[in-house]
Amino acid sequence: MRNSNQCPKCSGVEILYLPELTDSERDKLAAYVGPPGWTSVPHFGIVTAYVCLGCGYTELYTADPRSIPYREVPGAKILKGTPQQPYR
Ligand SMILES: [Zn+2]
Repeated sequence: MRNSNQCPKCSGVEILYLPELTDSERDKLAAYVGPPGWTSVPHFGIVTAYVCLGCGYTELYTADPRSIPYREVPGAKILKGTPQQPYR
């Protein structure tokens, strides 16, 4: 949907792009937010969204995912797959 501007669920072609999402306190949603007590709490991996205006299907993407200090998140780890040849 991000590259095609077409919904994979209903084939709709009106896609709303939201460069950031916020919670009820207007904080940006992020994959990781630094510890409390900082003057300015750092956010890593700001979440963006593509929303189909036809059916509401939503894709979320994380900006700059390699910046996320995942080692500070209990249980977080990088899972590695085996590259597959594109289907022909
Ligand atoms: Zn749709």
